[in-house]
Amino acid sequence: NAMATDDLTPQRGQVIVRYGAECAVMAINQQLYHCTSRQHLGHLVCGDEVIWQPTGNNSGVITALLPRHTVLSRPDYSGRDKPLAANVTLMVIVIAPEPLPSNSLIDQYLIAAELIGVATLIVCNKIDLLTTAAATEFISQFDYYPAIGYALLPMSAVPGAELTMLMAHLQSQTAIFVGQSGVGKSSLIAALLPDQAVQIGQLSAATGLGRHTTSAATYYYLPTGGGLIDSPGVRSFRLKHLTLNELERGFREFAPYLQQCRFNDCQHRSEPGCAINAAVTAGQINPQRLSSFHSLVNQYCTG
Ligand code: GDP
Ligand code: ZN
Repeated sequence: NAMATDDLTPQRGQVIVRYGAECAVMAINQQLYHCTSRQHLGHLVCGDEVIWQPTGNNSGVITALLPRHTVLSRPDYSGRDKPLAANVTLMVIVIAPEPLPSNSLIDQYLIAAELIGVATLIVCNKIDLLTTAAATEFISQFDYYPAIGYALLPMSAVPGAELTMLMAHLQSQTAIFVGQSGVGKSSLIAALLPDQAVQIGQLSAATGLGRHTTSAATYYYLPTGGGLIDSPGVRSFRLKHLTLNELERGFREFAPYLQQCRFNDCQHRSEPGCAINAAVTAGQINPQRLSSFHSLVNQYCTG
């Protein structure tokens, strides 16, 4: 391998985990380097693509942050948005028959994905808990998602379960898994990452932290291609603030009708000349999506 420790040429890398002011960076030679970062680069996060310069001894200095394609952020204790992960391309929204998804939960994740600009996959997990008939009925409740272009994958995360379809969706993506506690996110991730412990061991060695704590967002490479970013914060990711305009943009099938409502500030309730309500009547928009929109307006856009 040409890239030896004495080659100090600046090169590309990816932030795998950030710990304090430092980062573990995956180099193009597939080795991890312990890097500090130049102050002016600001807050680097897991998934960031960077230029870094080796300084010998498996260490280096990050000298540039490459443009982020997507940013997932969440408000910190002071309410200000702080980046949590960068360059995510796919949001895997996990639901299950147990615990049942609350009304409009899927839509909240879909809105977040639309606004961040990432693709989505809805995984309907724990299908093994239902009889074939009950499974068909359960899945049919969510039929309108595939109809508006959101892939839906029924599966189970039990030992021996078929993972091929999920792996195919994750190929060449950087995915995150989100959803209610207990739907099976950790089980799915564990099934996808048989050598997760090995990666964590390598990280501990590279960071010099005795034991790498998994509370920080961490990038994991999937053996079948692609990767995923995981942490408790990523799994429980939710949008905290939404304007009416953002909500509207989050419902992708509303787009062709939004400019056609008679009133500019139409809330799509019982206003005359509402094109969204007309589209519901005409069977072009699912009524559950419109009622979900209204409950989210009440939740996020009051006052
Ligand atoms: P998380 O909170 O979303 O990470 O959910 P976990 O992965 O911890 O799973 C919660 C519980 O559901 C655990 O007891 C799992 O063993 C169980 N579980 C996860 N996936 C499945 C599945 O596909 N089928 C069944 N029957 N149980 C599952
Ligand atoms: Zn309207």
